[in-house]
Amino acid sequence: MQIQPDSKAHPIYTLDLNFLGIEGAIASYLIPHNHGAVLVECGPGSTIPVLQAHLNSHGFNVSEISDVLLTHIHLDHAGASGWFAKQGARIHVHPVGAPHLLNPQKLLSSAGRIYGDKMELLWGDFLPVPESQVVIHQDQELIEIENLTFRPLETSGHASHHFAYILDGACFSGDIGGVRMTGTRHIRLPMPPPEFHLESWRHSLEILRQEEISHIIPTHFGIFTDPDWHLAALDKALDDIENWMEEIMPQELPSEEFKAEFLKLESQRAQADNIDPHFSNVYRTANPPEISLLGIQRYWRKFRQGE
Ligand SMILES: [Zn+2]
Repeated sequence: MQIQPDSKAHPIYTLDLNFLGIEGAIASYLIPHNHGAVLVECGPGSTIPVLQAHLNSHGFNVSEISDVLLTHIHLDHAGASGWFAKQGARIHVHPVGAPHLLNPQKLLSSAGRIYGDKMELLWGDFLPVPESQVVIHQDQELIEIENLTFRPLETSGHASHHFAYILDGACFSGDIGGVRMTGTRHIRLPMPPPEFHLESWRHSLEILRQEEISHIIPTHFGIFTDPDWHLAALDKALDDIENWMEEIMPQELPSEEFKAEFLKLESQRAQADNIDPHFSNVYRTANPPEISLLGIQRYWRKFRQGE
């Protein structure tokens, strides 16, 4: 898949990392420049061989990837960044995410508490990035790489250290743009602990709405040409989850019932959007409900309980 929004804009290639053998779950985006190319997101360590094969088929050696822009440092977006740094790339990141690239240990132990013995299978290695190759940016600061100019937008709500990046009219929305499978009009929210925050998410959507976006490009998954629909659907998804929380959370259900209620919500929303059931596996691979449930519980306890 490729777009070139107009003849003056830069081409963007979607690379499917085929995460866990599932198509269309995690993307990395390749943007060539005058002397090599940039990646927006590099995926986890476990999909490096797939990514490398994609780069070769587009005519690039890994050493020609000059820069990797990360929307945030969760393992499915940033896990391969240390490996790319080893091949010579600079890694661009939000200031709050940067310490975790220099020393991924804390990030890996908190992920380990969630994923247990599946860590290696899911994510592979997360090598540290040397300090000399970490490039920290502030909100709205222009990032000039050869003939490309990116602009990061501070967009918390999914994670507190999250950037969306603007290039021409394209918006790489990371996870703040939700999870939407190619060919669908259906959006789900990834709400992991410890930083999912509903009100911040709404604020971030306001920030995106102030941009003139021609293409919205979530990491999960693909390039969409209906940004107005997409942003409105994100608002609706936040409303849906907030209504659900207000109904369900005060009941303090046992965990199995709590999970069942959440799955019910997800399937009702999928049905309302006419989603073919074969997509449900892809949605769950890109955005496991178990993880969102942990994020929802934490958010509720910290910010809403006792209101
Ligand atoms: Zn994330």
